[in-house]
Amino acid sequence: MIKKIDHLGIAVLDPARGLAIFSEALGLRLEQIEDIPSQKLRSYHLRAGESHLELLFPTDPESTVAKFIEKKGAGFHHLALEVDDIEEERDRLTAAGFEPLSPEPFLGAGGKKVLFFHPRTTGGVLLEICQARSADVEGPGSKGNGHA
Ligand code: ZN
Repeated sequence: MIKKIDHLGIAVLDPARGLAIFSEALGLRLEQIEDIPSQKLRSYHLRAGESHLELLFPTDPESTVAKFIEKKGAGFHHLALEVDDIEEERDRLTAAGFEPLSPEPFLGAGGKKVLFFHPRTTGGVLLEICQARSADVEGPGSKGNGHA
């Protein structure tokens, strides 16, 4: 089941300019800056009520976000929907004709399980589904992942 829009990803060329627009001018609070080495990017989480904006700054010219900016310019990058069971939603959406970019979900920003679907199967929108960390409900010590 899809629960809500979790966040919108926005590719930025210059984090300072992105923050001037989305944090200072719009007044959205910068909650977290996170380096995601596996995707060669730094993400800036801005709270927008119940959802977030995620500014995506490529830290390497070879990253997929850098290539996206090269092709399409900075701006809207992906839509992320929170789901209650990511494997189940992957199977459901794949059966509906969506093409996952990887066979299995992986750990993305905020330690969430994430999976992306190719825009050519989703009406031109890079679609992410994400599931909140389950460690919170499984009880302490189950994953041994320590504290943030
Ligand atoms: Zn995202």
